[in-house]
Amino acid sequence: MDAIVRDSYEAVIGLEIHVQLKTKSKIFSSDPVSFGAPPNTLVSTVSLGLPGTLPKLNRTVIEMGLRMALACRGNVSARQHFDRKNYFYPDLPKGYQLTQDRSPLCRGGYLAVPTKEGLTQVELEKIHMEEDAGKLIHDRADADSRVDYNRAGVPLLEIVTKPVIGSPAEAAATVIEVRKLVRYLDISDGNMEEGSLRCDANVSIRPKGSKVLGTKVEIKNLNSMRNLSHALAYDIQRQIELAEAGLPITSETRGFDVQTGKTFPQRTKEALNDYRYFPDPDLPPIEVSPEWLQDIRSHLPVLPEEWYDRLVGQYALSPADALTVSDSREGAEYFQRLCELGVKPKSAANWLIGPVKSLLNQRGWDMGHWPVEPKRLAELTGLVESSQVSFGAAAQRVLPALVDQPAKGAGELAAALGVIQESDAEGLERLVAEVIKEFPLKVEAYQKGKTGIVSMFMGEVMKRSGGKADPRKANELILKKLTEA
Ligand code: ADP
Ligand code: MG
Repeated sequence: MDAIVRDSYEAVIGLEIHVQLKTKSKIFSSDPVSFGAPPNTLVSTVSLGLPGTLPKLNRTVIEMGLRMALACRGNVSARQHFDRKNYFYPDLPKGYQLTQDRSPLCRGGYLAVPTKEGLTQVELEKIHMEEDAGKLIHDRADADSRVDYNRAGVPLLEIVTKPVIGSPAEAAATVIEVRKLVRYLDISDGNMEEGSLRCDANVSIRPKGSKVLGTKVEIKNLNSMRNLSHALAYDIQRQIELAEAGLPITSETRGFDVQTGKTFPQRTKEALNDYRYFPDPDLPPIEVSPEWLQDIRSHLPVLPEEWYDRLVGQYALSPADALTVSDSREGAEYFQRLCELGVKPKSAANWLIGPVKSLLNQRGWDMGHWPVEPKRLAELTGLVESSQVSFGAAAQRVLPALVDQPAKGAGELAAALGVIQESDAEGLERLVAEVIKEFPLKVEAYQKGKTGIVSMFMGEVMKRSGGKADPRKANELILKKLTEA
């Protein structure tokens, strides 16, 4: 399509993000929560909703929910209750889902989402708690469909944004921010592959500059950042083509086919479901006292947004470095420890973003698994700073050794690896003089303007020092001697 035509429209996106909370047990029973257990092994009569059973709300679920609500600066509802959302589906044994409809955990608030321009606030409609349903398994090799109720009753938070997101990239950044935040708050592992983070995307288009919302399409079950942005990009294009052809956009639910990269219609919204919401009579209302909220607030960690401000403001990191360093809570806290131990902020950031990150990637770890204590890494950066170990040797030899032997000191390991540089100035001078004397023709070439020859002298000096010469000092000395010679 013509870029000019495409640019005359703008997309409007609103997300509904489901986060599975990492409680030990389900939201209304003591049935365990666990991923990958054999089908139907984590279900009692409560998860199955058999007659005579009663739900009992898991207090940890509310506490985790409140952590999220406060972290997003939402207005917490002081009195909440769960509604029954009635519908029939084989993955829903009770015939209704317990969810917060009229009294969500909180309304309003925002997510601080990084974009090229810095942090932008993606406003939230609300956050509410609900229970998950079971899972239908349609295996091609099996004539029957199967159902696994292990997931039935697993606690979820649903985070609903306002229709304020302008592009697929921003939508993906929003989901990434949710993942980061729930990990900071330690309320979910945020793992999309295992379904602990799932997303439905609502999208409409309108002429650029218009304030009126267009008809929205809902794309269900986007289970990776890639699928999310591809599905949105495809559907935006599809909607613009319809609009350009003068055809109406149908309000409908669509799926996303990973194979074709296209969205496809699932059901239209015309036949509005009547869920007959009503408060569950078996559950008492939840009272959230100001004291309880204050207690939860006082236990919140420093949030990603606060870290960002601190790293850019107090530590003068670039926005990009600040984001990378604060990608995880462990990373941000580690950075701060390094600085407290006297490492310069820029150097601490470079170490974390460079050598530490590549070692983590190599070993398939995240920062939570990083075994090297800050004081050991601080010692290593000190050795580099004082030219006792070259940056290359420190990053490529000493750091991996520290990872494997975290109880040992950086200096001790550097010595054992033989990478302590010759600091003895006299020895180095002698070496340089010796090399200069041995290659008179090269010296002449240098003096005639072949300055590139310096690297040959450097190579020779480094070789003779067994790699232990401080390259910066050696270079200085060589240049001095060459001009004197
Ligand atoms: P529904 O009644 O279909 O559940 P809601 O108004 O509750 O719709 O909104 C659900 C989600 O859809 C929210 O994330 C909201 O931001 C988003 N949304 C609502 N209207 C639009 C629109 N016109 N275009 C894009 N997203 C929208
Ligand atoms: Mg709605």
